[in-house]
Amino acid sequence: MKNVIVTGGSRGIGKCLVENLAKEGYNVILNYNKSEKSARKIQNELKENGVFIEIFKADVSKKEDVKNLISFALKKWEKIDVLINNAGIAKLQMFQDVTDEDWDEIINTNLKSAFYMSQAVMPSMVHEKSGCIINISSIWGMVGASCETVYSISKAGMDALTKSLAKELGPSNIRVNSIAPGVIDTDMNSNIDEKIKKEIRNETPLGKIGKTMDIYRCVKWLIEDEFTTGQVISINGGYIIT
Ligand code: NAP
Repeated sequence: MKNVIVTGGSRGIGKCLVENLAKEGYNVILNYNKSEKSARKIQNELKENGVFIEIFKADVSKKEDVKNLISFALKKWEKIDVLINNAGIAKLQMFQDVTDEDWDEIINTNLKSAFYMSQAVMPSMVHEKSGCIINISSIWGMVGASCETVYSISKAGMDALTKSLAKELGPSNIRVNSIAPGVIDTDMNSNIDEKIKKEIRNETPLGKIGKTMDIYRCVKWLIEDEFTTGQVISINGGYIIT
């Protein structure tokens, strides 16, 4: 079965990906940074059902941590088949108020992490002439978000990374794609009140807010697909149609 690394697997979308991929029989490393308790809980609950995953603490915005994570993976497995760059943070603020620290934190966590992780898995994937990288970007990288400019920039950068790497790595049979979710029900959106949620539902042709499973279904399909690369697939209920 394929070997999969999910960054930011301790909560939200990443947690859903880890749990479901592991239950499907994939070998999974759950990367976490701050939420150790949650990572251990996921590992233990899966274990109770006879499903085993590895967990590994790494701040994926730091090169040394990424190096340690990949070394850990390559000691466990001979190769890494799938990398899911999912770790991310968001911050609502007026562009006028963005500090150097805000910029660095968001860009490094959301985008530089994908640079470090992708570069680190490449030798293994190129050697195998096989691999799949999935970048979890966002609709806001496609259309821009007021008061989330830096976040939007980081996600647009991810999509550019996807398209460029797809061209560079296609000849090595490595597929690189983005999934750009719309609004998905996770901690990241815990600050959105019910009134705003209702407005979002009203503006969404499918009339609902997304669930983490909506992203999982696309991830699973992309992992097993053989002819899709360089694409930004937006899972958003029709909230944006480009
Ligand atoms: P979430 O519930 O807030 O979870 C974020 C995850 O990222 C956590 O597991 C967190 O781990 C991890 N993380 C953050 N910084 C990290 C770092 N430096 N190193 C390693 N892990 C780190 O968010 P989510 O909604 O699941 O979002 C997952 C991804 O989907 C993000 O990239 C987000 O931008 C994207 N997305 C989400 C939505 C949405 O509506 N929810 C929409 C579009 C795109 P720890 O807690 O262990 O630090």
